[in-house]
Amino acid sequence: MPIQMKTPLVEIDGDEMTRVLWALIKEKLLVPFVDLKTEYYDLSLPNRDATNDEVSARSAEAILKYGVGVKCATITSNEARKEEYGLKALYPSPNATIRAILDGTVFRKPIAVSRVAPGVSTWKKPIVIGRHAYGDVYRAAEMEVPGAGRVELVYTAADGGEKRETVAVFTGPGIVQGIHNYDASIRSFARACFLYALEEKLPVWFSAKDTISKIYDGRFKAIFNEVYESEFKEKCEEAGITYFYTLIDDAVARVVKGEGGILWACKNYDGDVMSDMIASAAGSLAMMTSVLVSPSGAFEYEAAHGTVQQHYYRWRKGEKTSTNPAALIFAWTGALAKRAEIDALPELAAFARRLERALLAAIDAGEMTGDLAKLADPAPEKVLDSREFLDAIASRLA
Ligand code: NAP
Ligand code: MG
Repeated sequence: MPIQMKTPLVEIDGDEMTRVLWALIKEKLLVPFVDLKTEYYDLSLPNRDATNDEVSARSAEAILKYGVGVKCATITSNEARKEEYGLKALYPSPNATIRAILDGTVFRKPIAVSRVAPGVSTWKKPIVIGRHAYGDVYRAAEMEVPGAGRVELVYTAADGGEKRETVAVFTGPGIVQGIHNYDASIRSFARACFLYALEEKLPVWFSAKDTISKIYDGRFKAIFNEVYESEFKEKCEEAGITYFYTLIDDAVARVVKGEGGILWACKNYDGDVMSDMIASAAGSLAMMTSVLVSPSGAFEYEAAHGTVQQHYYRWRKGEKTSTNPAALIFAWTGALAKRAEIDALPELAAFARRLERALLAAIDAGEMTGDLAKLADPAPEKVLDSREFLDAIASRLA
């Protein structure tokens, strides 16, 4: 009998090659084993266009309602995509929409396999990135400055009153950008990081640039410190977990020389960039998992990579592609395991771990896609296409 679920998972479908893999993962690895209960949201670009992007916000609200979601990669629209899909408008990135509603922190962790050594030879343990998922340059107001003049920051208090600060006096054309963050969001970022670190037993590093950005990054540093001292210091000391703050450039140098096994808490932009660096250095982008944790206790699992557009164009021409579904599968197992934990379903939790082990065992045995085959030592005898790789996992699972 298939394994039963209680509460539906919020299932968010996406675009291109990852949409193709999504359906195959369900068909080959989930539906034969689990009586899958999901509430389905189609965030493919055509459906976002058809719903004037309403569907993106609805899916995020559903995650808040049910507590756990799993998301496929989606296209972020731009002019080229507008033309390709004949869109009515350009829409914000669904991930930005979802993150803004969940106000969460994104944790990214590489999936380690024995045949692929990390590009950085000192790394012995995975490095987890905790990325603040609200504000800064992702929620900025920007302007082209047409010519000579003064640009100011103006704060108008709700009860009247005003503060002003000159940004720059322009003598010719240029550009300007205004970014912001909220104390409450920074505080929940810090909390999410310490909670994650306690659960995973990892030391926490937080990095920013408070020597240059004394007020903005200085506030991040102060709030992190305050949250640690007031809420987490004792618990961390009991668990043997350390916390330390350092400048982002110092952190980069230390990470590359260190052995890993840390949670590196990063501001939004730093986390975006550093997680791609960590993923590539740890092996393949396709081996990076991602979970968004909201302060209200909702979880959204996804792969860190995009829709793998170039593979999709080849697939559409009828070619076989060797696209790696590992991070997408881990998104499903992460979500199922969290659902199992909340709903107290030990069989479902055991299934999720079994599926992860089947995937890792296949790779260890030399059954892998092209991205890993390039890096593996010893190299596999044969490179599998996506379907063959999924079949290899399915046969181990059965
Ligand atoms: P991408 O989809 O991550 O792919 C970039 C390259 O990385 C691919 O061309 C491929 O390299 C390799 N790669 C990524 N995932 C792989 C996998 N599972 N298996 C094998 N190789 C993999 O990034 P992109 O091409 O820059 O973006 C495509 C679309 O995805 C864009 O429309 C973007 O907006 C969207 N995107 C969505 C998300 C999200 O929803 N979370 C995140 C990022 C980007 P080779 O070509 O060398 O094989
Ligand atoms: Mg990125």
